[in-house]
Amino acid sequence: MSNAQDPRLDIARTSAQLRDGALTPTGVVERCLQRIESRDADLHCMTQVFADEARARARALEREAPRGAFWGIPWLAKDNIATRTGRTTAGSRLLEDFRSPYDATVVERLDAEGAILLGKTNLDEFGRGSSTENSAFGASCNPWNAERVPGGSSGGSAAAVAAGYAAFALGSDTGGSIRQPAAFCGVVGFKPTYGSVSRFGLVAFASSLDQIGPLTRTVGDAAAVRVAIAGPDARDATTRPGAVSAADLAAPPAGVRIGVPRRFVDEGVDPAVHENFDATLRRWTDAGGTIVDIDLPHAPHAVATYYVLATAEASSNLARYDGVRYTRRTADATDLDTMLTRTRTTGFGAEVTRRILLGTFVLSSGYYDAYYRRAQKVRTLLRRDFDTAFARCDVVALPASPTPPFRHGERTADPLQMYLSDVFTVPANLVGGPAITLPSGLVGDLPLGVQLYGAVAQDAALLRVASWAEGSIGFRAAPPA
Ligand code: GLN
Repeated sequence: MSNAQDPRLDIARTSAQLRDGALTPTGVVERCLQRIESRDADLHCMTQVFADEARARARALEREAPRGAFWGIPWLAKDNIATRTGRTTAGSRLLEDFRSPYDATVVERLDAEGAILLGKTNLDEFGRGSSTENSAFGASCNPWNAERVPGGSSGGSAAAVAAGYAAFALGSDTGGSIRQPAAFCGVVGFKPTYGSVSRFGLVAFASSLDQIGPLTRTVGDAAAVRVAIAGPDARDATTRPGAVSAADLAAPPAGVRIGVPRRFVDEGVDPAVHENFDATLRRWTDAGGTIVDIDLPHAPHAVATYYVLATAEASSNLARYDGVRYTRRTADATDLDTMLTRTRTTGFGAEVTRRILLGTFVLSSGYYDAYYRRAQKVRTLLRRDFDTAFARCDVVALPASPTPPFRHGERTADPLQMYLSDVFTVPANLVGGPAITLPSGLVGDLPLGVQLYGAVAQDAALLRVASWAEGSIGFRAAPPA
């Protein structure tokens, strides 16, 4: 299907049509709401739809002259991003009724640019998962094939953008939760450099790894969202100082050097993914790119390292959900210990409970040195691997996921299999640099994705290469209507 026939909105075209009057904010909002109405009973991407608020906001915007880079553009927030509108559930029973008293910084910034928030998207509880099957509110489906998962944990955001509910969505990425679902759903997913987007108002998973970023139809749209949401924030001390430079996507990079860690890529990858990855590399070399052989000797340890560090940080971040400071309290307890225990054991789902146990274990005295401290050392070694690689190449290419989108239920019984699906995404979070997944083809009716990593803080340079890479791939398909 060509772009011209594709009824789904993207940011660039919608913005142009809003500005020349071919579309109105109300018209765009109605079109998206209709799409949600007709599809979401099957796909279940949304935890909440803000129809009345979005309509009122569209009318308010129409009373002014267009201003702001996102004037009249409808968008969706993953439901672990705090919004004063509606609830912020993080996919958890415990936060089912939680109303945030403030908006996350990213929400404020998009608001200031004239964007219209249409609703919140489904996710694995507290962002823990790779399939969106861990949501307390039920699993989401892949719009390409509803028997398959949309990936996770930002599966609702990815499926919603693929199905055309809105021009873009925000997700969060701790170990791949933007990039893997984007690849599973045939859209673009971008994780910016750690600290370039404020985490103020993001329900914390693992604070040294978490980053908010966009899921979009095109690299150009991802670059535009980045400019709107990135930059220093006094409310998040880990944000990077300095102005955000826009990516010059119009100037294709000359002779881009693409690093490929063959040993790492070739291990345990599905044959369809392998074939698609190699075909994509050939397209890039045909378009003038050069493949550089690199080695990432510690990358095979990234999943183990990630699941030690992420669970350790998760176990401490989740301590606040105790029925006192946050969350609904179990009613039938008469003493404090029973209340705390019951609130937490009945409130958290199985995967979150598993993470708390694992994290508490690796931090406990006697095991701290063997697991947590060792994982921190491996993290440093992995950073050095990438420093060495980026001395010789501009970007590193990897598949987005070792397999195509899997079936619902296929991996829920075996958490290790689920964890292994993050093998190509977790290194970026451990290292801190930017990474982006691009749709790269179909196997049957299922999308596949490739991934490009950039050096830390080189987000604009990565996006420029990604835009060129996207053009050379030329993926144009849309899921069945
Ligand atoms: N799948 C990974 C996990 O379950 C990553 C999740 C994420 O990035 N939020 O931890």
